[in-house]
Amino acid sequence: MFELPKLNYEYNALEPFIDATTMEIHHSKHHQAYITNFNAVLEKYPALQNLSSEEIVKNLNGIEVTEEDRKKIKNHGGGFINHSLFWEIMGPEKQINEQLLADINTEFTSLEKFKADFTQSAIGQFGSGWAWLVYDENGKLKIYSLPNQDSPLTIGHKPMICLDVWEHAYYLKYQNRRVDYINNWWNVLKLI
Ligand code: MN
Repeated sequence: MFELPKLNYEYNALEPFIDATTMEIHHSKHHQAYITNFNAVLEKYPALQNLSSEEIVKNLNGIEVTEEDRKKIKNHGGGFINHSLFWEIMGPEKQINEQLLADINTEFTSLEKFKADFTQSAIGQFGSGWAWLVYDENGKLKIYSLPNQDSPLTIGHKPMICLDVWEHAYYLKYQNRRVDYINNWWNVLKLI
């Protein structure tokens, strides 16, 4: 059974950019719900219970489950791992990933250009979804957005940075000002 991962910081640690109430509901309610639903599907498949959540989502199209359950695993398993990464890459203090920063500068020519491209991808995601920075199957950095809880792992990519643009991630504080949320979020991304 998968469990809700603990945050390495308090719910109010990302203030004023992400408010404590949003963090608490997002983590303890939304993230927990994905985990509860993911576990409920896995109960039916003992063969999957020895795998990590990443292995399951990575092999989403290969695992032997009903099509209805594959959809549930895509949504709830994806929701579980996507949020786990999201909490991990944020924090009140910078903890620079030097290798990633070097690769970003190489691939996108500058950090500013990367931030502009990623921001555009996040803004451009129509409806619920996430913006992603991933290493593709050739180890090349790529930016894109995916709908819902779809994971880059399913297409063989390694996610490094993600931004949740579901309304539940920002609505209490920002309401319809999604662009302000996205621009402010860079302040709490600890990796770069
Ligand atoms: Mn979310």
